[in-house]
Amino acid sequence: MIVALAGGTGGSKMVHGLALANGQRDLSAIVNTGDDGEFFGLLVCPDLDINLYCLAGVVADRGWGYADDTFHCLEGLSTYGREAWFGLGDRDLATHVHRTLMMRDGARLSDVVDDLRERLGVEARVMPMTDDPVRTIITTPSGERRFQEYLVRDGAREEIDAIRVEGLAEASPAPGVLDAIAEADLIVIAPSSPIVSIGTILGVPGVRDAVAARRDRVIGVSPIVGGAPVEGPAQKFLRGAGYGECSARQMAEIYADVCATFVIDASDEAEAAAIEDLGVRPVLTDVLMPDRAARERLARVVIEAAG
Ligand code: GDP
Repeated sequence: MIVALAGGTGGSKMVHGLALANGQRDLSAIVNTGDDGEFFGLLVCPDLDINLYCLAGVVADRGWGYADDTFHCLEGLSTYGREAWFGLGDRDLATHVHRTLMMRDGARLSDVVDDLRERLGVEARVMPMTDDPVRTIITTPSGERRFQEYLVRDGAREEIDAIRVEGLAEASPAPGVLDAIAEADLIVIAPSSPIVSIGTILGVPGVRDAVAARRDRVIGVSPIVGGAPVEGPAQKFLRGAGYGECSARQMAEIYADVCATFVIDASDEAEAAAIEDLGVRPVLTDVLMPDRAARERLARVVIEAAG
């Protein structure tokens, strides 16, 4: 069994690649829920949904949301003066309505994800990192923001003073999470944010220790190429969390206690020796995943590198 730790955009590309390279049956994804939030009374789980939609083959070409979706409901809400900055398509809204109704009837988030997975025809196991509500809160010079407010509504323009995850210290791993980590043949840390995606998953009490106990079987993939993220405002999150450097080496340092092998872009070869000095084995390849073929190829490199 391959177990992936994943956030949204970078994470789902890796999870998709692993599914293409090794099949869905032997794949489990443990997914960040710190980005979750309530919109119009509905629980929205962006990272879980992007992974489910990717695995189901229904993700939109832009990389999130449902393919060929329309936005009539959101436009209607905007007409009524509602804030409509978070792109919830009509078909996508069905997911959030169904999830919210199931949870209102007492289901746990992990039950809901399993239901969505089955109904969307996804064979891989997809697990929220926890069933408990956790919310990433970003503090900027002008105040506190919920994660999606900072990222989507405000376009991640401001510098970050602090990042905290409400509810994380009291959260428990979702059913199956610790067992999956303990039993995995291979654990892949996807090229997601080390702070607000993977950092949040590892922050669920018990998870970092469980992954560290399997360190020899853990392989990470760098989201940073040439000193910059492939996309998104990673520098702001890194600075906000107190890291001065945005580099593949910095990623390897953040993960040095939990992963023995780290895949970096071939163009970052100059950082390989410094990564080795951290006690982490660097593997060099092309880590960009613009299309299916690239995702599958990178996943094969990751699987082979793990031996
Ligand atoms: P979020 O939850 O949507 O913010 O997304 P993630 O945390 O999963 O991923 C964000 C990170 O993915 C960014 O730092 C990007 O640099 C990285 N990323 C996006 N696309 C790629 C890719 O094709 N290759 C690699 N190596 N990293 C990527």
